[in-house]
Amino acid sequence: MKRGAKKILFVASEAYPLVKTGGLGDVVYSLPHALHERGADLRLLLPGYRALLRQLDQVRILGWFDLRGAEGIVSARILETRHGDFPFPLWIVDCPPLFDRPGNPYVTAAGSDWPDNAERFAVFARAAAQLGLDALELGWKPDVVHCHDWQTGLVPAFLHAAPHRPRTVFTIHNLAYGGHFSHTDFVRLQLPSQWWSPEGVEFHGGFSMLKAGIVYADAVTTVSPTYAEEICTPAFGYGLDGLLRAVRHKLSGILNGIDTRLWDPSTDPHLPAHYSPNRIQPGKRRNKEALLSRFLPAVNDAAMQAPLVGQVGRLVEQKGIDWVLAAIPVLLAESDIRFVLLGSGQAMYEHKFTQLARQHPDRVFVEIGYDETLAHRIEAGADLFLMPSRFEPCGLNQMYSLRYGTPPVVFKTGGLADTVVDTTPETLDDASATGFVFDTPSVDGLLDAIRRALALYRKPALWRRLQQHGMRQSFDWSESAAHYLELYSA
Ligand code: ADP
Repeated sequence: MKRGAKKILFVASEAYPLVKTGGLGDVVYSLPHALHERGADLRLLLPGYRALLRQLDQVRILGWFDLRGAEGIVSARILETRHGDFPFPLWIVDCPPLFDRPGNPYVTAAGSDWPDNAERFAVFARAAAQLGLDALELGWKPDVVHCHDWQTGLVPAFLHAAPHRPRTVFTIHNLAYGGHFSHTDFVRLQLPSQWWSPEGVEFHGGFSMLKAGIVYADAVTTVSPTYAEEICTPAFGYGLDGLLRAVRHKLSGILNGIDTRLWDPSTDPHLPAHYSPNRIQPGKRRNKEALLSRFLPAVNDAAMQAPLVGQVGRLVEQKGIDWVLAAIPVLLAESDIRFVLLGSGQAMYEHKFTQLARQHPDRVFVEIGYDETLAHRIEAGADLFLMPSRFEPCGLNQMYSLRYGTPPVVFKTGGLADTVVDTTPETLDDASATGFVFDTPSVDGLLDAIRRALALYRKPALWRRLQQHGMRQSFDWSESAAHYLELYSA
């Protein structure tokens, strides 16, 4: 570590590979790595979920905090551990009554929010703020505390009035998740009464942890330039657009990068065969065959020649799942496509996809659940990738699919608009085309884009050119990590 390196405390509720529910987990893994490589001195603070603690070998107790919870004082141990996947120390808030439980970090097995989420993330934030002030006297006081999403929104608020405090940066990964809680929670948690105002954390009669982060952080970022603009409008602002317009001076959009080592089709250990832009076949074809053989007793020529359309992701309205559910039967009827989906989310969508797969067992392949390996294999084995999100703060899957030679079909919004260039005769010619972008938010818009893609797929030379353009895009962290470092120093 360079002397004088910036000390950054990263505070988040998930980090790949320890605990991940979506893109947040990927970014909380890959961004600190990129910052570390550029000389930053980091600690990553996470809640001590059971699933996380189970993966740790040796931990050291850094100290204890007594923190205000919903019913009184709760004690939390701060643990430090080294983990093979992280070149810097991990710090854990170990508070068993709040975090030692099975399953998902935010929701119960039935899919509803943990009823004590307000307390869980208020206590986590109190611990983070204390560490931001080096209250355990560890001799490591951060220059910057960088917080992510509503689960950490109270951290900048707790730090705001503290003397000699670090700079705070708050990153919005998805404005749709606001961390909304009741006035009763606010009182029970004994949050400072001066926060209770429309200029503070109050939001529609309750309070929002996300709003707290936006109001009290020194700098607010979101994960793509287009999304930073969109969230300042009523259509995308979830009632916070007025506030976001008011804090525009401290709001910026920094595009997420991807981890180009974990997501590299020429080395990816999850894949049965490897390939690169200069030699896409036969590697990609072998991936397609392996993927199909997971679902079919025998893979015939017809299946190999038919375009395989893939999708991976959370099955929620945001991701345009209803459009996909309406479009697939039309495409099955008018073309020879096959469709493969990996995802989990709303029970209704899970059910509908499962039904569709039952109706078309030789053409629609559905896996409900979470499976890192299969996610990589779909990115590599499919021919075309669907990501028609209604809104998308950044989106990682479309960048993975570009890198894997699987052109994405996306709606023109947020990070999708910032990372995918539509295919037209001109963009194919000037080598800027990478995928298929539609700008009418409807099933017809999606169908039209997929049909354009399928037409090009039948022209192998042009298709290969499109794949190569996408695979050669650079989505690594260099530029964006430099932006964050500038912001830390501002
Ligand atoms: P979001 O953060 O909104 O879920 P992103 O595209 O930004 O969407 O990131 C999603 C990340 O989670 C990607 O790494 C994707 O591969 C992964 N992912 C989503 N659903 C699944 C799943 N069912 N199985 C495996 N990985 C998944």
